[in-house]
Amino acid sequence: MHIEDIFKLRSTTFSFEFFPPKSKAGAEELFEEIKHLEPLAPSFVSVTYGAGGGTRELTHELVMRIKRQTGLDPTPHLTCIYHTEAEIYDILERYAEAGISNILALSGDPPRDKPDYDRSKDSFRYASQLVRFIRQFKDRHAGRAIKDRRGFGIAVAGFPEGHPATPNRLREMDHLKAKVDEGADFIVTQLFFDNRDFYDFRERCDLAGVKVPIIAGVMPITSDQGMHRMADLAAGARFPAALLRAVQRCKGNQDAVRRVGIHWATEQCRDLLDHQVRGIHLYTLNRSTATREIYANLGVQDSLALA
Ligand code: FAD
Repeated sequence: MHIEDIFKLRSTTFSFEFFPPKSKAGAEELFEEIKHLEPLAPSFVSVTYGAGGGTRELTHELVMRIKRQTGLDPTPHLTCIYHTEAEIYDILERYAEAGISNILALSGDPPRDKPDYDRSKDSFRYASQLVRFIRQFKDRHAGRAIKDRRGFGIAVAGFPEGHPATPNRLREMDHLKAKVDEGADFIVTQLFFDNRDFYDFRERCDLAGVKVPIIAGVMPITSDQGMHRMADLAAGARFPAALLRAVQRCKGNQDAVRRVGIHWATEQCRDLLDHQVRGIHLYTLNRSTATREIYANLGVQDSLALA
């Protein structure tokens, strides 16, 4: 369903993020987890896109399989990096033909093993250029594969605590606004642990004239190791002292760390709901337990009861 229609139906959206497993066994495991997540009735689920190489086809396969075999509405992520315009066009055509309604348009980072990758080979450098291209695709495709006259619903990334590549936070907001001015319909944020960072970001967006809905990214910590991986992957994310103290009190007991992490994420969600957040995007890491526990802690059976 086009994101505009989702927002009309729901005062708060709930969405889950998956990444494409590399093996067949991993894919089967994910579909087992999806069976447990489906009854939670998310507004959409998103599928990440690899930073280059072989995992990209896996994103398309996972998106198509979710679309065919489940009642969930998949939103693929798509990045500028390692792509020519013609390749992006082909991908959009495939998604349009498969009835995909929304796309998360990103710049993407060079893979860790190729930090010096020359981005001048890519047709697009910044997400704003990709957003423009996706918007133009609608016009070129009018009346063909893409049936919705609005074209794809387009999401872009937002960084409540700032993106490390742009230390100038005023300029960074201009770049975010450029994505919206090019036609982005909504923003999904990087994960954060202190809701005050999100509320301040929301206000700064408003002051800058960025008026589209903002969906908050929440990821529960489920282990010490996972927390360190998160710090590595979620560039810029700040771990508040209160959270670190709570984790330290567990003294390495991983079950206790998991309970602390899920409690923290639940409280974040409860507070976000109290502050009329437009949507919550849960980073699931392809597991269902933490997400289900958050719903249970909030006292609801599914997203419909929350919206
Ligand atoms: P942009 O909006 O293009 O911004 C990138 C940087 O460039 C920012 O610092 C911005 O301020 C700056 N900038 C923008 N425009 C200009 C300009 N005109 N001139 C100078 N500087 C400019 N990565 C993946 O590889 N695959 C994924 O599936 C994926 N999913 C993500 C999902 C979410 C919700 C988030 C928050 C991030 C995701 N990422 C993913 C990571 C993302 O690709 C990186 O963080 C990337 O560095 C920034 O992407 P962006 O789309 O925000 O880029």
